[in-house]
Amino acid sequence: MSRILHGLAVQAEILSRLKPRIQKLSRRPGLAVVLVGHNPASEIYVRSKIRVCAELGIFDETIRPPETATTEELLAIVDGLNRRPDIDAIMVQMPLPKHVDTRRVLEAVAADKDADGFHPTNVGYLVAGRRAPRACTPAGIIELLKHYKLPMAGQHAVVLGRSDIVGKPMALMLLQENATVTIGHSRSKNLPEMCRQADLLVAAIGRAAFVTEEYIKPGATVIDVGIHRVTDAGQAARLGRADEFASQGKIVVGDVHPLDLARVAGAYTPVPGGVGPLTIAMLMANAVELAERHLCSA
Ligand code: NAP
Repeated sequence: MSRILHGLAVQAEILSRLKPRIQKLSRRPGLAVVLVGHNPASEIYVRSKIRVCAELGIFDETIRPPETATTEELLAIVDGLNRRPDIDAIMVQMPLPKHVDTRRVLEAVAADKDADGFHPTNVGYLVAGRRAPRACTPAGIIELLKHYKLPMAGQHAVVLGRSDIVGKPMALMLLQENATVTIGHSRSKNLPEMCRQADLLVAAIGRAAFVTEEYIKPGATVIDVGIHRVTDAGQAARLGRADEFASQGKIVVGDVHPLDLARVAGAYTPVPGGVGPLTIAMLMANAVELAERHLCSA
């Protein structure tokens, strides 16, 4: 029988550890979110962040430039936030509109206000194993593995996906936990065979139910990072969720086939309810850590 790894339980633990740290500060930590346009998925995500900030007593401000905002306008907003003493952490919600130079905007966020851990300085600190804000999704996955006391040291971890946001930092963090790490991507050969060697498989490729039985070593721990909304009744039925589809008109699945996941893995994160809540928790953790740093050095 496989074990389900619940992200909400780990989120609750992370947030409860943050509360006393926030209470010790001389003012509330400040988190600014720049949300460009009206992407529905981003709106949902930002609403969750606002709710968690309120629960923790973090001051939050959402700046909402229009979809037509230029790179220069966004750089000016980020510059303004970098200068504000009440803002400890800044996150620019992805994706930005196509006409915007995303890299320039992300890199304009001061490294010591980088809530997402995307700034090259902080990526460098991660490579060097130094303390700094870390990419929230992989950092949350490490917390989840620790919470459930799942071993990392000496384990063969395969990370499927090499994005700057998930795959690459995930591989680095697992390496730091003394796992033996392999990274798979779209040019890798024999992916199913490679993944079947994994004691720990992290799937972050952005393809609904792509990872099936032949990718999973029986008994392995599988972390499913993907989030996909399925609106086709036939596909929902093939994924074993016909009833849920009938009542809700959609289902949400990950990068791993949910039926195979439950049948073959030893432990796994469900979608929804697995990795998603961890990302928000670690964003809060980064904001609190940055506030502590600013208030200590003030
Ligand atoms: P991404 O930037 O699109 O990167 C996908 C990676 O997967 C790339 O490295 C790509 O390889 C690789 N890939 C794509 N198709 C492949 C294939 N057929 N075989 C092998 N590798 C393949 O995606 P991302 O931002 O890392 O996100 C991945 C998934 O996680 C998405 O579903 C996203 O929505 C989800 N996500 C969830 C959370 C959360 O909080 N739960 C947070 C972030 C992301 P190449 O580099 O060779 O192109």
